[in-house]
Amino acid sequence: MGKFLFWAVVIIGVLLVTRVLTHYAANQRNKPLQKKGGPQAITEAEEMVRCAHCQVFIPRSDAFEQDDHLWCGPEHAKQGVHQPR
Ligand SMILES: [Zn+2]
Repeated sequence: MGKFLFWAVVIIGVLLVTRVLTHYAANQRNKPLQKKGGPQAITEAEEMVRCAHCQVFIPRSDAFEQDDHLWCGPEHAKQGVHQPR
């Protein structure tokens, strides 16, 4: 009976250790991702601007600039400013 208890404790101990280790490994893997997705990513994120015609948000680099306004494309620049009701 003593031997059985000994092995039961050993098996439970091994299971606990593997569980803790896998949990730790998962945490280590997630840490760099959390850093990337943290406040740094917000500052690195591109500024969003609004098309003066259709009010759609577009990244600054994709925006089309003309007549002191930003547009989603040259077609909306031609159509001009449109105020939605
Ligand atoms: Zn537009």
